Amino acid sequence: MSSPYISIVIPVHNEQEVLEQLYSRLTAAIDALGKSYEIILINDGSTDHSARILKTLHERRPHHIRVIEFNGNFGQHMAIMAGFEHVRGEIVITMDADLQNPPEEMGKLVATIEAGHDVVNTYRENRQDSWWRLQVSKWHNQLRAWMVPKLVMRDEGCMLRAYRRHVVDLMASTGESSTFISALALTYAANPTEVGIAHAERAAGTSNYNFYKLLRYNFDLITGFSVFPLQLFTMLGMLISFCSFAFVVFLMIRRIMIGPEVEGVFTLFAIMFFLIGIVLFGLGMVGEYTGRIYQEVRKRPRFVVKNILDKPIDIQPNKDVYEVRSSQTIS
Ligand code: UDP
Ligand code: MG
Repeated sequence: MSSPYISIVIPVHNEQEVLEQLYSRLTAAIDALGKSYEIILINDGSTDHSARILKTLHERRPHHIRVIEFNGNFGQHMAIMAGFEHVRGEIVITMDADLQNPPEEMGKLVATIEAGHDVVNTYRENRQDSWWRLQVSKWHNQLRAWMVPKLVMRDEGCMLRAYRRHVVDLMASTGESSTFISALALTYAANPTEVGIAHAERAAGTSNYNFYKLLRYNFDLITGFSVFPLQLFTMLGMLISFCSFAFVVFLMIRRIMIGPEVEGVFTLFAIMFFLIGIVLFGLGMVGEYTGRIYQEVRKRPRFVVKNILDKPIDIQPNKDVYEVRSSQTIS
């Protein structure tokens, strides 16, 4: 056998407190499945001791654990993409490093893929997050369902998911620098499904997402998969133009009937500020799309790999194995 059956892809950004625990729980859970596997950990520009710990994990199990090191912070989804570019397994599983997704649930995902699905999405049962995170997620899931109805998923944020290799290869081939993995997978899936999985609080450390980062991340999802916000502004523009025209006619009639009036200046100001707000929001929306187009046309590398810790597998390696063993890769 030249490649593993299962590849597990895990992005890591400042997770020094959880990596040991992740290692023991993950390897125990996957060993119990009795299938061949590899674990690809991507160090996404950690500034703590994660890099050193990842190196020791690789040394402990060099034939199972591979580490891809970025030379900066390129974000969770780019880290997963880098993992996707290097996977060798037939079934690919993504998960977070912080053990919020229990590795013990992996068996369920593998069984679902083996039952004939090419993408297994998940939703978190009894989600253990702060109140505001739950609230933001709920609103965003509703907004996304409304704006991008073709993406049928209950919970876009749960990253313990499983894919057949051909879907992963398609995702890796897109070369997009701002994307949203779970949504991208659905666009290529022929037979996706969803399963519920347990969710835990972070084993240690703190979330890497503050409100601003979450907002940016959610814009990636909406703008990456829909032009609905732009169309919404066209519709809104038409509606406001029509209402303004009716208002002008109304004011003209009043002018003729009643004569000049000065009252209502503050009402007019309020209306004007409201309209300026909408215009600025619309401009920002257009900017979100334009910025992403700009990012894509510049064609800069979407991430830079500094180093790959990888040992040849002790069994007959295949062609792919040699390709990924370079120490400097730019993608
Ligand atoms: N992560 C990453 N790069 C980033 C932010 C996060 O690789 O810039 C990783 C992080 O190490 C974790 C996963 O993405 O494995 C999810 O991040 P986190 O747990 O902080 O997010 P939350 O669970 O709060 O959404
Ligand atoms: Mg987390």
